[in-house]
Amino acid sequence: MEKLAVVYRGKAKTLYTTADPHRLILEFRDDASAFNGRRVEALAGKGAINNQINHFIMQRLQAAGIATQLERLLSADQALVKKLTMLPVECVVRNRAAGALCRRLAIAEGQVLNPPLFELFLKSDALDDPLINEFYGYTFGWITPEQYRQIKQLTFQINALLVPLFEQADLLLVDYKLEFGLLGEQIVLGDEISPDNCRLWDKKSGNKLDKDRFRQELGHVVESYLEIAQRLGIEVHQNSEVTT
Ligand code: 5GP
Repeated sequence: MEKLAVVYRGKAKTLYTTADPHRLILEFRDDASAFNGRRVEALAGKGAINNQINHFIMQRLQAAGIATQLERLLSADQALVKKLTMLPVECVVRNRAAGALCRRLAIAEGQVLNPPLFELFLKSDALDDPLINEFYGYTFGWITPEQYRQIKQLTFQINALLVPLFEQADLLLVDYKLEFGLLGEQIVLGDEISPDNCRLWDKKSGNKLDKDRFRQELGHVVESYLEIAQRLGIEVHQNSEVTT
């Protein structure tokens, strides 16, 4: 399957059309961005690691009955995905307090959140992805009540699968962001699940192994991503063709 034209270039991924109007190629670039694109750097090897972590996790979710956009790996840093019409919202799940929640409500970092929090944000770079709730979605036509019901249910199902998956790798899944899209009427998980959009801490030491290493300039970003992959049992390929 060949890349044809660029349909969307995000901060760390590019989507290309293919000869099949229902399939796109998702390329994970080495670019890392933080603070809504105000800091951008290239981190050699990150794209391939994230592509393969995303593939591993999406496959696990798919096997557990969650519909995902992912079809198959095409190469170290590219995957074939179904073309979705994305909902313009981001869903954030928080199992422990970190990041924006600590800043917004002065909650201590690391506090266990039981039950986990579910937050909705409008996807808008121009507005810095503001926090909204479902009623904004209904009023402004971003999401219907039925879509909201489904994405909330799917998000909690996904959380119940991901927490133990990372736990087995001695990793705490602190929080993460999910995006959903429509395939016809069906709600399907899109975007990615990788250390770029999850907070993952070492269970024993509490060390941060995710994109906070880049945001907070802690160093060893790619090494930490690779450690996550290795703990999950993924043998990461760089530059080679992957045919699974
Ligand atoms: P926070 O709201 O604390 O900034 O982020 C919560 C979680 O969602 C973190 O794991 C963070 O990586 C993820 N997240 C939230 N918004 C975005 C976004 O626009 N891009 C990415 N890559 N991750 C996000």
